[in-house]
Amino acid sequence: MSTYGAIRARLDADEIVMLDGAIGTEILRRDLSWADHQVLAYPDKIRGIHEDYIRAGADVLTTNTFQLARWSFENHFRDRVHLRHIGAPDLETRADALLTAAVRLAREARDRVATGREVAIAGAVTTLEWCFRPDLAPSQEVMRAEYREIMDTMARAGADLILLETVNSVAEARVGLEAAHEVGLPCWVSFVCDERGRLFTGETMADAARALTPLDPEAILLNCAPPSDVTVGLRELARAYDGPKGAYAHIGRFDPPEWMFTDEFPPDLYLAEARRWVELGARILGGCCGTTPDHIAALVGGLRRANASTRSGGTPTRC
Ligand SMILES: [Zn+2]
Repeated sequence: MSTYGAIRARLDADEIVMLDGAIGTEILRRDLSWADHQVLAYPDKIRGIHEDYIRAGADVLTTNTFQLARWSFENHFRDRVHLRHIGAPDLETRADALLTAAVRLAREARDRVATGREVAIAGAVTTLEWCFRPDLAPSQEVMRAEYREIMDTMARAGADLILLETVNSVAEARVGLEAAHEVGLPCWVSFVCDERGRLFTGETMADAARALTPLDPEAILLNCAPPSDVTVGLRELARAYDGPKGAYAHIGRFDPPEWMFTDEFPPDLYLAEARRWVELGARILGGCCGTTPDHIAALVGGLRRANASTRSGGTPTRC
């Protein structure tokens, strides 16, 4: 059975699968900046974060590849001729090199720490433009080409699945999901939702479920919104979608371009919110911006017990 096959079998058995927590904000918390994702400058630090998440109990590691795309570099220039005229010489190939290195670091962490335990590597891919601004999204033609290129690199580097995350529109989700299937990788699609449980385009979870179901996603999740917004969105999603579901919220405040850490959601309170997500049918749990290995360890400890009581005939957690 493939590594992802083992994860999928656990979802089919209605078991909880644990994602990791934040990578980007964890880099900040460990006193680094976000330049070039630090995968080449500080590989030990990035690998160390992955290793800490495995030790905390994560079953799925997400790569440190937030908005890492050729588009993110090229988009600063008038066109490709202008990029070649004034840009750094490696800008056209830098995304590819960083994506490859990021997947390798996650795999190395797995090889070092996860002896005897199945841990899958999810290539993290997000919107090409700002996550909270669907109005800025490039054309579907650009999206399709960029996603194909990113996911092809991730597949060749050894990712087990794609986690298409913080997606803000049904259209971008469809294109990304199709691209993942074209490169032969299973794909989880995770949407960012607002306080009404809708996408930032105003589309509903029913719209999203209706559009994605024919494309056969492995799971639909919600992420990068405050815990209470994720709860609202998950309630909507559960009404519309019968397949595997998941949730991982952010904690703290967005302080562009970085992140403000707050103490509103220490691990025990985050666990309390995650229990609601399990009650609403989520089986893939983890953390987005601001969460730490301690948050994942709290989920593993608290939700594993919930899992065990369900299997032994306790209160069923499926809606
Ligand atoms: Zn986030």
